[in-house]
Amino acid sequence: MRRTDFAMALHGGAGAIPRASMSDAQEAQYRAVLAEALTAGHRVLAAGDTALEAVCQALRVMEDSPLFNAGRGSVFTHKGEIEMDAAVMVGRTRAAGAVCQLKAVKNPVFAARAVMERSGHVLLAAAGAQAFAESAGMETAPPDYFRTEERWQQLLTARGDGRLALDSDLPNPTAAEGKFGTVGAVALDRSGGLAAATSTGGMTNKRWGRIGDSPILGAGTWADETVAVSATGVGEMFIRACAAHEISARMRFLHEDVLRASSAVLDDVARLGGRGGLIVIDAEGHIAMPFNTAGMFRGRVSSASDIEVAIYSD
Ligand code: ASP
Repeated sequence: MRRTDFAMALHGGAGAIPRASMSDAQEAQYRAVLAEALTAGHRVLAAGDTALEAVCQALRVMEDSPLFNAGRGSVFTHKGEIEMDAAVMVGRTRAAGAVCQLKAVKNPVFAARAVMERSGHVLLAAAGAQAFAESAGMETAPPDYFRTEERWQQLLTARGDGRLALDSDLPNPTAAEGKFGTVGAVALDRSGGLAAATSTGGMTNKRWGRIGDSPILGAGTWADETVAVSATGVGEMFIRACAAHEISARMRFLHEDVLRASSAVLDDVARLGGRGGLIVIDAEGHIAMPFNTAGMFRGRVSSASDIEVAIYSD
């Protein structure tokens, strides 16, 4: 039996988010954007529109905010450029679209959706993805639009010793996890449809050309008739764990619930040396949002409950 008519969860990245490093005013800003994104998604779902539309509208709010590592506010590569990845997936049809290494599209989530709806392909990269997005009418912006001083300083700190994110000779590759800030949303609509979307600038100081888990279907983003999933964390480990799809497999074959399946997958990611979090919703509207970092920006709303926003484990 369905618990709710509709429901939605979102994340704004997991990672080292020490309470002491964030002022009350900053925390309030994060909470306000999370609430605004949930309100945008709720509006869509309450009107009876699709889960796909809800996750895209929620992510647009977060991509437009400089606080999160997606769209405006994306992190920088080692070269000091922005390379954004995004994906969307619809559960019932398993229609999917993804883009990677976009440099100039304001809302990569809509570029991913255009790939799904208008290209006949699933994944487009780099200059081809950029050209397709422009031909599909996506709004573009110059590098300055995406740049924030905080992300730039993060890059200068990270590349201080000349190494790149996740270089194998780092004493502890996971120490490079920092604060992620990728954004993702999952939703269940009134018709019972599920959808997932994820959008990211990737990891600070990443090797240019590096692609993370977010646009890799089954790794950082997945939706089918059982579940919709979006991940955040060290993308390499989520890819190697095939994390998002594995949650669906565990639910279908082992009959685990959303929390058990997603916690088991996160444990597997941790065994590979990865840290991060997941948001998951099933076809009945059950939600799980596990993470193994100090915090994860996250929130949820449904037809039966008000907006809830959280950052830390309590
Ligand atoms: N998963 C993203 C990536 O590896 C990073 C993040 O979650 O912030 O590209």
